[in-house]
Amino acid sequence: MSVRDVRLLGDPVLRVRCDEVEAVDEEVRALVDDLYDTMYAADGIGLAAPQIGVPLRVFVYDVRDPDLAPGVLINPRLVEAGGTVRESEGCLSIPTLEETVERRAQVVYEGLDREGRPVRIEARDLLSRCLQHEADHLDGVLFIDRLSPLKRRMLLSKWAKLDDSEKKPAGTF
Ligand code: ZN
Repeated sequence: MSVRDVRLLGDPVLRVRCDEVEAVDEEVRALVDDLYDTMYAADGIGLAAPQIGVPLRVFVYDVRDPDLAPGVLINPRLVEAGGTVRESEGCLSIPTLEETVERRAQVVYEGLDREGRPVRIEARDLLSRCLQHEADHLDGVLFIDRLSPLKRRMLLSKWAKLDDSEKKPAGTF
């Protein structure tokens, strides 16, 4: 188990469509453990495998709600979605930037857990947003891609002007 570097905007691994996990083996379990360690070290509430440089369809989440257990989803599939909601959102891979993003309000994902067993997660509010944000990462999609072209250009020009030392970990996913 170890804390890995979080890859930042500009790293090509954030832009690939990640591969399905074919078998949940020791290697995948080690990846899951690294994801948890790195997410907690970064004080994030979610982290996807490409964010630590591994192009596989795996993410972890923990929205720090005593009623919602932390978890992992491997090969997630969105099976139900309802409503829409607009809330502020950031990303550990694009520190400092935050913007309002429209997401589905309620979602149901199915996938596999750390032991390779089927799981089904019903989510609303912050967990729903978190799962959708992480699932996007597995398709090479970042939250800035869900903004209007104008908003995206404004954020990217702000990002381009920042020194690395000014990039603060404001994002949570
Ligand atoms: Zn993110």
